[in-house]
Amino acid sequence: MRNKIACISLNLDSIGHAIGKSPLENDPTFNIVFDRIEKILDRYNIKLSVFVIGKDLENDKNLKKVSSWSSRGHEIGNHTYSHALNFSSLSYKEIHNEIKKTDELILKATNKKPTGFIAPGWNSSNKVLLALKDLGYKYDHSLFSSPILFLGLFKLFYNFIKVLIVEKKQPKTYTIFEIFQRRDYLHMFFGKSKPFKTSNSYFFTSKEKDALRVYPIPSKFKLAYWLTMDFVLPKKISDLIFKINIKRKNFFYILIHPADFISEEDLRHIEGTHSFERISVDLDYKLNVFEDRIKQLLENNFIFKTFDQLT
Ligand SMILES: [Zn+2]
Repeated sequence: MRNKIACISLNLDSIGHAIGKSPLENDPTFNIVFDRIEKILDRYNIKLSVFVIGKDLENDKNLKKVSSWSSRGHEIGNHTYSHALNFSSLSYKEIHNEIKKTDELILKATNKKPTGFIAPGWNSSNKVLLALKDLGYKYDHSLFSSPILFLGLFKLFYNFIKVLIVEKKQPKTYTIFEIFQRRDYLHMFFGKSKPFKTSNSYFFTSKEKDALRVYPIPSKFKLAYWLTMDFVLPKKISDLIFKINIKRKNFFYILIHPADFISEEDLRHIEGTHSFERISVDLDYKLNVFEDRIKQLLENNFIFKTFDQLT
């Protein structure tokens, strides 16, 4: 019997954003990446949840793309307006504004109010939960309950240094200080790993009717899985982490990023993209790994839904 549920969350971290030129005309994340992912998902009749950066929707072409994805049954969620890496350190007003601006742009694109959110780099706090609740959101999946996040932070740190050496200047979209400016260090060690409802805290649950649902990054024994792991860790280790995570679990989601679906060729004509992560990994290999993960979930009796359908 199929009673286990899986979702796919695409955090649409655009090329335009990465090189500090959002919204970028002909951004490959809007023009190439989504179609590649959808082509695979169509084989299994799966819809996904896409979380967009608001600033990217200040471009008509991008807005139209998002509108067409939504009309084909995919969910469009909120990934803030400017993707500030120190998101949780902003004031309540700034956080509220970042979410609201994107909310309005998504509504303009899709005619639907978004119901879900994820913070940039999972950098979230109780203030973010409060703003989401005030703006009528139903769920958040910014909680990263695993110290593996440090791996991601050190990768960012490494990128920063790399850009500094290659371009002799800082990356345009973040500072070295922001990488570690977080309010969630305790979450990594003591955060919940199963979905729960809350009204104002990542630690305390709530039975209130309008409580927010929180979907933490899938993790077991504090070992979290998202698709990037397959391209940065030895395959045997990421396979093991994936397996222990889907075993006997009723809910799972795969978090994916555009870099998992882009090749060097796609970026050849775009300036400032030479220091990108996982671009050198063969594209066909990356697409196959993703499709294998889908197959494994189906074989393990998961059915796919968008987050919005669950909440
Ligand atoms: Zn992001």
